[in-house]
Amino acid sequence: MFYFKIDRWNPDPNIIARAASILRDGGLAAFPTETVYGLGANGLNPDAVKKIFRAKGRPVDNPLILHLSEPGQARSLAEIDDRAAETIKAFWPGPLTLVLPALPHVPREVTAGLSTVALRMPDHPAALALIDAAQCPVAAPSANRSGRPSPTDAEAVAADLGDRIDILLDAGSVDVGLESTVIDLTGRGVLLLRPGGAPAEKLEKFFGEPLESPGDDARKRSPGTRYRHYAPALPVSIWRPGEEEIPRSIDPSTSGFMGMTPPSAHFARTVLFDSESSYARGMFAGFRHFEAEGLRHIVVEWPRSQGIGLALQDRIWRASN
Ligand code: AMP
Ligand code: MG
Repeated sequence: MFYFKIDRWNPDPNIIARAASILRDGGLAAFPTETVYGLGANGLNPDAVKKIFRAKGRPVDNPLILHLSEPGQARSLAEIDDRAAETIKAFWPGPLTLVLPALPHVPREVTAGLSTVALRMPDHPAALALIDAAQCPVAAPSANRSGRPSPTDAEAVAADLGDRIDILLDAGSVDVGLESTVIDLTGRGVLLLRPGGAPAEKLEKFFGEPLESPGDDARKRSPGTRYRHYAPALPVSIWRPGEEEIPRSIDPSTSGFMGMTPPSAHFARTVLFDSESSYARGMFAGFRHFEAEGLRHIVVEWPRSQGIGLALQDRIWRASN
């Protein structure tokens, strides 16, 4: 594997060109985005896309997001109606993925055989430079082994996938720390398939209507939401401050705590954040640190649902299941 440190704002064009040619030749390139690190392949090359599934151990029925470097590229991959065009104008580049009717040439390896495709333009200069240089949409799930916490820095990518990728671009820690919000715009309403970096309140204000919750239908609409996910090797328990005591079955002296409210128990390691957004940025890395420190159990505080808190709740819930 090639490993390069790059400047997020001003990545070396030679390194970008090298990673782009790996993508064009059907290889795998891990790269930073504003949400988490991605594991990229040429999204129009079925054999390259298959390598993503193999490297991650990802179930093949879980479709991938195609990453673009220009809003206009969306029209060559999906049907874009007025509502989709307005949404793109308002939210891209940024942590919002749109599920739209796919054009027929989008490989079924990307869509998992669905008639829709998920598209996003990341808000990260190095990611945009790479996608632009590759001259293709880049299929990219998070650069972790399937089921593991998403990587928010290059060390986590190397730990999970170092022996399975061709190149890793390291631009330091990400800003958001959780994946993009995924909405489905193929029906009349706006369906929230996965809460994420773009807050639900902001989307509701933009659309002027409440987001619909797919409920059980989510399984069909967004296959990825049904797997155990984001989970460290240690058991994760949820703590609701003010409502509950720390469960008696947990021994704080061998456990790590993460959250915003200092717990009364004395944990082996306590990591406190001053806001939901810093909690979101630090949670996955915190999981990995607790693993590395040889702790036995992780207790995480249940955050409020405002803003990024809704996405944090979703990830915590799935890590704890
Ligand atoms: P990941 O890249 O692993 O963060 O996950 C991408 C998310 O987008 C998963 O929850 C997928 O199920 C979802 N997704 C990707 N493509 C589609 C699609 N065509 N329809 C519905 N959900 C999708
Ligand atoms: Mg993922």
